[in-house]
Amino acid sequence: AAGKKPSAREPDYMSFEDIGGQEQAKRELSEALEFLVQRDKIEKLGIRPMKGILLTGPPGTGKTLLAKAAAHHTQSAFVAASGSEFVEMYVGVGAGRIRDLFKEARNLAVKQKRDSAIVFIDEIDGIGGKRDGGQHREYDQTLNQLLTEMDGIQGDEKVQILLIAATNRKELLDPALLRPGRFDRHIQVDLPDKTGREHILQLHARNKPMREGVSLSRVAEETFGFSGAQLESVMNEAAIYALRAGSDRLDSEHLSQAIDKVMMGERMDRETTH
Ligand code: ATP
Repeated sequence: AAGKKPSAREPDYMSFEDIGGQEQAKRELSEALEFLVQRDKIEKLGIRPMKGILLTGPPGTGKTLLAKAAAHHTQSAFVAASGSEFVEMYVGVGAGRIRDLFKEARNLAVKQKRDSAIVFIDEIDGIGGKRDGGQHREYDQTLNQLLTEMDGIQGDEKVQILLIAATNRKELLDPALLRPGRFDRHIQVDLPDKTGREHILQLHARNKPMREGVSLSRVAEETFGFSGAQLESVMNEAAIYALRAGSDRLDSEHLSQAIDKVMMGERMDRETTH
């Protein structure tokens, strides 16, 4: 989702409070971020810096939001790329793009007077998937450049760099990326449970007038298995049903229709891609 333009409703920065559910992921991430927050102490104690955090989990669960919130929380500069950008690149172009990305992060931090920068790479499996017998040279070079950048992260740099990467499929990653000293923390970002779904629905209902008696807890019950992105879609579709019905508020009927629509859309996606 890193390549997607943020929607008009979404602020450029995200805070952990703007992310529904995901309590454990948020806790683990904030703990890991102490490495940036308490940088001086970490350095004095001779602890090596944390270089990378890997977020794993199904699509649309908030991994991009978490990376943005991490930047906000630590007052770091933020740059992002998606692994999918690299798939069809000529030999050397991908490696150059990785080099530029880290350079851009350092420059942006200096420009914004920040002590740290977070580089976010979504769909990291597009770069760091398992290598198959050296057939893809451009791909190898891109991955090698990423490994070089990670290995080059030092604790005594002016701008401390942290790589946060996300993937839906950790099992596809090249073992070189999973070696100690690369991604020091692996954080699982799962589909939300009922409480998480209700929280996410509330967040996306903040700017929507609701008919009295509408129960988001009921909606949360009826949306088992939905991701955060799908729940956002439910709220948005419900507002569209309200508009079509000439109503200035969302009611339970609009929400039920929206749940059906999102569920149906999902099924159609599955049928066309498989
Ligand atoms: P992908 O793996 O497809 O890149 P992702 O895990 O990075 O997905 P995001 O891009 O963070 O997912 O989420 C997509 C959108 O879904 C967000 O912009 C937001 O509107 C909504 N969303 C997802 N998870 C949450 C959440 N936990 N709280 C609030 N909104 C959420």
